[in-house]
Amino acid sequence: MLIDGVKDGNRRALARAITLVESGRPADRRRAARLLDAVADPGRQALRIGLSGTPGVGKSTFIEAFGMMLTGQGKRVAVLAVDPSSTRSGGSILGDKTRMERLSREKRAFIRPSPSQTELGGVARRTREAIALCEAAGFDVVIVETVGVGQSETLVAQMTDIFTLLLAPGGGDELQGVKRGIMEIADLIVINKADGEMKTQAERTRADYAGALHLLRRREGDPEDFPKALTASSLSQEGLATVWDEMSALAGHRRETGHWERIRAAQNRHWFHDAVRHGILRHLTSDAATKDAMASLGEAVARGETAPSAAADEMLRRLFPGGA
Ligand code: GDP
Repeated sequence: MLIDGVKDGNRRALARAITLVESGRPADRRRAARLLDAVADPGRQALRIGLSGTPGVGKSTFIEAFGMMLTGQGKRVAVLAVDPSSTRSGGSILGDKTRMERLSREKRAFIRPSPSQTELGGVARRTREAIALCEAAGFDVVIVETVGVGQSETLVAQMTDIFTLLLAPGGGDELQGVKRGIMEIADLIVINKADGEMKTQAERTRADYAGALHLLRRREGDPEDFPKALTASSLSQEGLATVWDEMSALAGHRRETGHWERIRAAQNRHWFHDAVRHGILRHLTSDAATKDAMASLGEAVARGETAPSAAADEMLRRLFPGGA
């Protein structure tokens, strides 16, 4: 049984369950919904870590070293990936097992590459459900990897507890291709590659970002010194323990103050609203009568017979006869 397999933390069962939630087929969707319902266990909560950074910054090296450190401590670590881009750059496939060879062989680890792409809304739902499955399977830490260049960061931030931005030494945000909005949602900024000749520059970059973060509004209820900038080396592993300590400190603080539950509750509400919105949008393109009405009203607008807002009102009256 898939349900028991997932609950027992069986990795093959977990992989099959994730394949099920990734399927768009209506019959699979129904099975997936039943499965998610059956395995849900509020007593099992992982620390969900969002990790973002541009290609080449060292995400896979970081996750491998960080993941190995955690599994070495007896923790179970799952790695998922969100990759909204259809064109993948230079072999940098997110969540690719060959990028994290040691971790992928580790018994306490589970790595899942990003699924083939559809619209972003679909990616969000599948990733959320995959996270839920990893939690149900008893993983202590779920790392969600994403490329720090676009929309997917906001999605990931809304489904994780701690959002971490990985940067390289030197260069401003523009140079590193990081959008300003991403910095604003980061709980931690880690300047990676703080080793050898780059160590001094990494420290300078850290200080620059620490200064910039200081000007940003911290998340309500968080300790004074968050968001925080740190340095680390995924190669020498220096600083990785501190990254974990800071993540644990922030999570611990939020748990003690009740903020943890409030953030997760707000996230759940967000995804509920999001699912309803997507359902309505899907209805516009999948229900035959609705599709026809959209087409004919669209024609009337195009011919100038009806004003766009009047046509929209008419359409909304048809969709929601009780008023919208
Ligand atoms: P990703 O595309 O973000 O996943 O980046 P990778 O993990 O593939 O790393 C890109 C390159 O940076 C590789 O050549 C790594 O060996 C190198 N790299 C990653 N982390 C470090 C680090 O901490 N120090 C140094 N010196 N190089 C690193």
